[in-house]
Amino acid sequence: MSSAAPAPTRRRVDACPGALQTHPAADGALARVRIPGGLLSATQLRVLAGAARDLGDGHLELTSRGNLQLRGLPAGAEPRLGDRLAAVGLLPSATHERVRNVLASVLSGRAGGGHLDVRPWVTALDAGLCADPALAGLPGRFLLTLDDGRGDVAGLGGDVGLLARSATEVALTLGGIDSGRRAAPADAVPLALAAARAFLAERDAQGATAWRLAELDDGPARVATRLRGQSRDFGPAVEVPGAPVVGPVGAVTQVDGRTALLGVVRLGRLGADQADLLARLADEVQLTPWRSVAVPDLAEDAVDDAAVDLHRTGMVFDEASPWLRVTTCAGRPGCAKSLADVRGDATAAVTTGALPAGGARQHWAGCGRRCGRPQGGVVDVVATPAGYDIQRSGVEED
Ligand code: SF4
Repeated sequence: MSSAAPAPTRRRVDACPGALQTHPAADGALARVRIPGGLLSATQLRVLAGAARDLGDGHLELTSRGNLQLRGLPAGAEPRLGDRLAAVGLLPSATHERVRNVLASVLSGRAGGGHLDVRPWVTALDAGLCADPALAGLPGRFLLTLDDGRGDVAGLGGDVGLLARSATEVALTLGGIDSGRRAAPADAVPLALAAARAFLAERDAQGATAWRLAELDDGPARVATRLRGQSRDFGPAVEVPGAPVVGPVGAVTQVDGRTALLGVVRLGRLGADQADLLARLADEVQLTPWRSVAVPDLAEDAVDDAAVDLHRTGMVFDEASPWLRVTTCAGRPGCAKSLADVRGDATAAVTTGALPAGGARQHWAGCGRRCGRPQGGVVDVVATPAGYDIQRSGVEED
C-alpha cells in the first residue's frame, strides 16, 4: 500500500468550530452543527430553521461534509443554541460534538445500486464515537465516510472510510486508499472506530499533532498495521472511486417505487423559510456533500407540487444549471480577510451568464486560503487587490 507524502506537523491549536465552541467571524459568531450522514428529521430541521431565524442571520449554510453552519450569532448565544440542539438530539455529546463528521452515501437504502443500507452504520458510528471518551480527542477536521458501494462518498477525502464491496464484505479505506482490511457488514463500524483509535495512537507514537491521517508519516500503512487481528485478512485490492464533480439532481425513483427529489441550494445558503418548507415535505431529509438536499419518500402525486414549491424558493433541479458548478467561501462581510463580496460577485456572474472559465466547476474565494474548496478538479477564482485571479490547474490567467 502506498501513502501520501507526510505534511508538516501542525503547530496550531485545532480551532475547528462547533456548536458550542464557535468561531468569531466579522459578522458575529459562527457555529458548525455536525449532522452525521447528513440525515435530519423534520423536527430537527424546524429547530435549526428557528435557531437561524432567532439567533443567527436567518440562513443555514451547507458544508462540503453535509454539516450546517449558523452565522451572525450574538456574543453568548452558544448555550441557547446548545439547548435547542440538544432538545432534538443534535447535540448528543458536548465533549464529542466536533468529531461527528460522517458522510454517508446519498439516499442509501432508498436509491438502487448500493450493496447495503448504510443508515444503520451512521447511527452506530455516531453512538460509538460519542461513547468513547478517548475519541473526543479526534481533530475537528477528521472525516469518516460510509459508502454503500456506489462510490459516491468514498473518494471525498475521508480519513477513515467503509466501502461496501458486496452484501457480505466491506473494505476499510484509510486516508482515501484501500487499507486491505476487510470486515463483515456487522463488524464494519467497530473496525472504523478501531481505525479512529489507531490514528490517535499512531499520532501519539509519532509525537505529532496531525489533523488528518494522511499527514502522519506513512499514516495509512501504519494505522492499517495497528489493526492486525481486528479485521479480516487482505481481500483483492480496491480502487477507491474518485470524487464526483457534482452530485445527483432532479428526481430519483426509489427501490420502493416512491420518488426522491434532489435540489441544489444556491451557494449553499439555505434560508430558514426554505428549511421549513423542506420539513413540511418529508419526515427526513439528507444533506449532501454537494450542497444539495435530498427529499425522499414522495408519493407519485406529490412530486410535481414539491418540485415547483422548492423551485420557487430558488432550489435548483436542472443538472445543466451553472449553480451546480459554483461554490464560494463566505467572503465579505462575514470574513474580515476577504478582499471581495464573493457571494455577490459569483451570483452576479451566474445570473448574467458571465462566469469565468466557461462551464468549468469553480470555487470563488476572498483570499488565497480558499476555504470551502470542494474535492476534485476545480478552477479557483481568487480575489486579489487587483481583481479576481482565475487559476486553472496551477496556471494563472487574468
Ligand atoms: S477563503 Fe479567505 S476570505 Fe474566504 S472565508 Fe476563507 S479566509 Fe475568509
